[in-house]
Amino acid sequence: MSILSTPAILLRSYPYSETSQILRFYTESQGVLGAIARGVRKTGGRFGGALSTFSEGFLNIQFRENRDLQTFRDFSPIKARRGLAQDPLRLAGASVLGELILQHAESEGHPPLFAGLGRGLDAMDGVEREVFLPTLLAQLWPLIRGLGFGPLLQACVECGRAFQEEEMGRFDFGAGGLRCSSCQGEAQGPRLGPVARSQLMGLLDGEAPEELIRPKAHLRLASDFITYHVSGGTPLRSLTVLTALTPKTDA
Ligand SMILES: [Zn+2]
Repeated sequence: MSILSTPAILLRSYPYSETSQILRFYTESQGVLGAIARGVRKTGGRFGGALSTFSEGFLNIQFRENRDLQTFRDFSPIKARRGLAQDPLRLAGASVLGELILQHAESEGHPPLFAGLGRGLDAMDGVEREVFLPTLLAQLWPLIRGLGFGPLLQACVECGRAFQEEEMGRFDFGAGGLRCSSCQGEAQGPRLGPVARSQLMGLLDGEAPEELIRPKAHLRLASDFITYHVSGGTPLRSLTVLTALTPKTDA
């Protein structure tokens, strides 16, 4: 057994017995990592405020290879991200990013993904409602790509021909990208015109457009894409919650 020290983000915690807590971290050096923290739930425990969800800091655990649950030593938060608690929408956005990582990230380090998650949570921490969806999607799509599932948008997934500037395409979830006008076949996904396509490409690069056209349609597309490719056919629970929270007025 050795002591492992790594930058980490706390993604979930559950009570375990009367005094303990099970913690799920995303760590820079070991990916997703579960740990049991004994005694932390006693009143006035040493970690009272430190173990708040989505905080990021430095984690020390007693680490043993091939063990599901490691033994927690301590966690010193650097970023508490208290802004998330000020708006349920922010919290829901952070939960989407966290659940995506928990669903798919492996138990090995992936520093760019770790940094991307941190950036996404920072963006959610202070986001204003008017720009919420574009801001979230500009963080979510790069994480999807970071997990290895980015959609193909520049060329048709069937024939490989590059899209013309003004061409409509139809999204094919199974094939992981857009079909051109001559290859629509059985594709049932949404149709994407040139504006939606270029805005989606921007989101994949982490750029929130100044005005995202039909933001809820973009959210649905991201949600369906995750359901199909990342979360094994079931929508992320946090995305269902988020969709219910977003104002009905946006298209
Ligand atoms: Zn084609």
